[in-house]
Amino acid sequence: MAYGYCPNCRCGVRYRVSPQHRAPWLAELAAEVGRGEAAALLCYGCWKPLEIGDGVEVLDPPFWRPEIGGRAKGTVTGISRDDGHAVYLVEGQAACSPWNCRFYRTQIKALEAAAAGTVRLILRAD
Ligand SMILES: [Zn+2]
Repeated sequence: MAYGYCPNCRCGVRYRVSPQHRAPWLAELAAEVGRGEAAALLCYGCWKPLEIGDGVEVLDPPFWRPEIGGRAKGTVTGISRDDGHAVYLVEGQAACSPWNCRFYRTQIKALEAAAAGTVRLILRAD
């Protein structure tokens, strides 16, 4: 078991690396992952494909929308495409008024904590 961090939201990620085959070099590689410096792995909240109705936390609000503070919470109410990238319409509630804003995936994180356990990475040679 090792600990890494999510490069998107900087939260801690607990993970385990296992070789799928018993090849000695894969076992050595699995044992070395994360040694020396913390591995960077997307956490479940930053990785999870979002759907309409999912609760999200805003990691990187646009500077022109000061009413949406960092770590504001909202709900995905629409998904569209912008030059090939998914764009999520999120609605939330500020102190005194509702807000909505479009975000790229890296700007928001799923609130669902169902997969907050250990991430298991399987190494295999093709
Ligand atoms: Zn994350």
